[in-house]
Amino acid sequence: MKSDLKIKDLIKGNKTFLIAGPCSVESEEQIMRTATELAKYEVNAIRGGIWKPRTRPGSFEGVGGDGLKWLKDAGSAVNIPVTVEVATPEHIEECLKHDIDILWIGARTTTNPFSVQILADALKGIDIPIMVKNPMSPDVDLWIGAFERLYNAGVTKLIAVHRGFSSHKKTVYRNVPNWRIPIEFRRTVKSIPIICDPSHICGNTTLLQSIAQEAMDLLFDGLMIEVHINPKEALSDAKQQITPQEYGTLIENLHVKKPYTDDEDFFKLIGEIRQEIDGVDNNIIDLLAKRMNLSKQIGTFKKGANVSHYQPDRWNEIIKSRTKTGAEKHLSEDFIYRVYQYIHEESIRQQEDMPE
Ligand code: PEP
Ligand code: MN
Repeated sequence: MKSDLKIKDLIKGNKTFLIAGPCSVESEEQIMRTATELAKYEVNAIRGGIWKPRTRPGSFEGVGGDGLKWLKDAGSAVNIPVTVEVATPEHIEECLKHDIDILWIGARTTTNPFSVQILADALKGIDIPIMVKNPMSPDVDLWIGAFERLYNAGVTKLIAVHRGFSSHKKTVYRNVPNWRIPIEFRRTVKSIPIICDPSHICGNTTLLQSIAQEAMDLLFDGLMIEVHINPKEALSDAKQQITPQEYGTLIENLHVKKPYTDDEDFFKLIGEIRQEIDGVDNNIIDLLAKRMNLSKQIGTFKKGANVSHYQPDRWNEIIKSRTKTGAEKHLSEDFIYRVYQYIHEESIRQQEDMPE
C-alpha cells in the first residue's frame, strides 16, 4: 500500500504542508474573513467542518450543505484549496458537487471499519486526496486498516493525520499524543505522508506551539491547526482555536528539521557514539536475559510452595527502589516505572510459561 500523493505536490515551495481554518464553518462572513486573514501567512489548504461529530446531541452540529459554498468561495477568493470532514456517502457527494479539494475522515469514523468501508465504496473511481485521522484509541492496525480499505477501493492519494487518542486518565491533553503510534504507523507504511493536528491533541492553546514543534522534530510532513477569526465566539472547540495572527506567529516560530545531512564530520562523530550505544544495548539485553533466568529460578520455588507468581509487596518495593535509584541518575520516575512494568510483566509471563 502506498500513497501517490507527494507532499511536495501540495506545498508549492513551503517546507511543510500547512492546513488551517476553523473547527466549523459558521457563516459566510466568518469563513471569508478567516480565509482572507490566513492568506497573509503560509497556508496550503483551508479547513472547515460542515457536519460536526459532537459528543452529545444538542450542541452546534455544523451548518450543513450551505457551508460548502461559503467555504469553497472563501478558498477561491484567496486561491487556496479547501478541505472538509466527511462521514457518509451523502457528505462525499455534496462535497464533490461543490468542488471541495481534499476530504478527511474524522477520528470517530476511522474507529468504525463498517463506516470506513462504506466511505471507501463511495469513493471508488474518484480521484480526490483523502486524509484519514487516527482512530480514537491507540490502535495502529485499525488506522492502517482504514487506509487498506481505501486503497483497495482504488483511492491512492492518501494522507494520515495524527490527532491524539482519548484516554481514561486525566491528562494535560484533550487527546494524548502517544507519539509511539504515529511513529509505528510511519515505520509500517513508509510512503503515506503524515501530518499532525495539534489543536485536537491540546484542547487548548497553551501547548499548541510545543506540540507543533514536537511534530516537526519527529519529521511529520505537515500540520492542521484550528484557526478562527474570533476564537472566543466560536460555536465549537472555542478553547483550542487561535486567531490568524497567532497562527502566523506559530508558523514563524516553527523550526522545521531535516531527516539527514551531507556533513561527513557529523556522521563520523555520531558514528562513534552509535557504536558505543550498540555496545550498551547488547549489555542491556544480556542483563535482561540474566534477570529473566533468575526470575525463572524463583518461579520453580513458587510453584513448589503453591505461591502466586504475582507478589504485590515485592512489586511495590521494586517500583519504589528502582524509581529512586533512577532519579539519582536523572532518569524520570515515569520512564523507570514504565520500563519496570514491562520487565515485571515479562518475568511473570516467563514464570507462568514454565513447564510443569
Ligand atoms: C475536527 O477536526 O474538527 C474533528 C472533529 O476532529 P477529530 O475527528 O480529530 O475529533
Ligand atoms: Mn474541532
